[in-house]
Amino acid sequence: MELSGKRVVVVGLALTGVALARFLARRGARVTVTDGKPAEALAARVAMLDGVDVTWELGGHRLASFTEADLIVLSPGVPMLPELRAARAAGVEVIAEIELAYRFLDPAAQLIAITGTNGKSTTTALTGALCAASDRPSFCGGNLGNMPLIDAVDHPANVPGGLIVAEVAAFMLEHCSTFRPKVGVLTNITEDHLDRFGTMEVYAEMKGRVWDQQQPDDVAIANAADPWVVREAGDVRAALCWFDSRPGATPDRGAALSADRRELVLRGVPGAAAEERYPVDDLVIVGNHNMENAMAAYMAARAVGVSIEAIRAGARSYRPLPHRMERVGDRDDVLYYDDSKGTNVASVAASVRGFPRPLVLIAGGVDKGGSYAPMLEALDGVCKGLVLIGAAAPLIRAAAAAHGVTYPVLDAADMHDAVGQATALCVAGDAVVLSPACASYDMFDNFGHRGRVFRDAVSAVGARRLDT
Ligand code: ADP
Repeated sequence: MELSGKRVVVVGLALTGVALARFLARRGARVTVTDGKPAEALAARVAMLDGVDVTWELGGHRLASFTEADLIVLSPGVPMLPELRAARAAGVEVIAEIELAYRFLDPAAQLIAITGTNGKSTTTALTGALCAASDRPSFCGGNLGNMPLIDAVDHPANVPGGLIVAEVAAFMLEHCSTFRPKVGVLTNITEDHLDRFGTMEVYAEMKGRVWDQQQPDDVAIANAADPWVVREAGDVRAALCWFDSRPGATPDRGAALSADRRELVLRGVPGAAAEERYPVDDLVIVGNHNMENAMAAYMAARAVGVSIEAIRAGARSYRPLPHRMERVGDRDDVLYYDDSKGTNVASVAASVRGFPRPLVLIAGGVDKGGSYAPMLEALDGVCKGLVLIGAAAPLIRAAAAAHGVTYPVLDAADMHDAVGQATALCVAGDAVVLSPACASYDMFDNFGHRGRVFRDAVSAVGARRLDT
């Protein structure tokens, strides 16, 4: 794809937008960067492009720039703006950042793309760790952290046999036309982002696009226990490998847990032996959902030729990501867990189901449009109190009442108040868990910020910090 001299508009100036502008300018494109936010709010990002030749259109968008462009590239999360519709109608190609990156990847590099409602980051980071333990160059990024896929293009891993692992969001798949991963992983599809996609059908179809361009020599990895994933897997062309964490599951081609749940058993995975067994004890991450993430990661790595030894070494070196059920404090045997990344109902349900201690849950924030019932069911028997924050508080309160909960449901003014009230409900042997089931942007910059404020509040009630 030739970019030199082309008028290219980058929409959205987050870290991906910065990386895109640099990439495009390096290849001689005439770059315009636009964002609805005003320049003052974006000063830090603008400064990152100091010395790069770009035209700025901040605080709004100029229609003519869109309709007269040769190409428009979207950062993750950019909504379908009217200017984008107009550009499409005028015949301008509109693509996602991952699609642009894909067009510049070496066809013989091995791309593993991971999507799903929950477990994307964990599966991506773990797969990245398995690949990094091999003797081939590897890249791990995408939506995860601050390494967008476009950064893989000029990375040492972008060579034949290089390993490129990317977390991809449904929002990005919406604007892909040729994106074809060697291995496409779909972890699960549960209610999330319905505020944006409207219905589960539309949302599921978007996630299923990770497999759309694949061919028979590619590999699709799918969750056998998830009805929406099973439905999306119905028409894949790639070799389909299932992971199934249900007791007694034995997929013909795929991965399951051994009867004693101490081994991950892979069967018939392309590139692997007929049967391979891996000890669960190599991993520090726990819980059924993490076994699913691990099975997907192991199969993905084996399918691109990572050796058994490298997988075991990578698994042993892997450490959990922050804000995912991270133990951050204790006070008189009350433990505090930061699961700020629990941003939807299914992830909270996965985290709290069968929790080993009675817990008080701090939840709330910006509602995503789904039902809270699965979370409330998972809390039955382990929850001794619910402390609510943010805009969704009345919705969660109403759902708790409808569910017939008998534990107290309290409202908090802010995170410090929430941690104080939650602590007051606890006795030795209990836990306080921040796992909000909601987005954070009514009170915080993002889930990381929310987690950090939680940790400060945990210190403020006199708990010993465990995370520093
Ligand atoms: P994502 O990047 O998709 O948000 P993460 O790996 O960051 O996923 O996990 C987010 C939260 O979802 C975690 O806090 C955990 O509680 C939950 N979770 C992780 N993996 C799974 C899974 N496979 N199924 C359901 N929930 C999960």
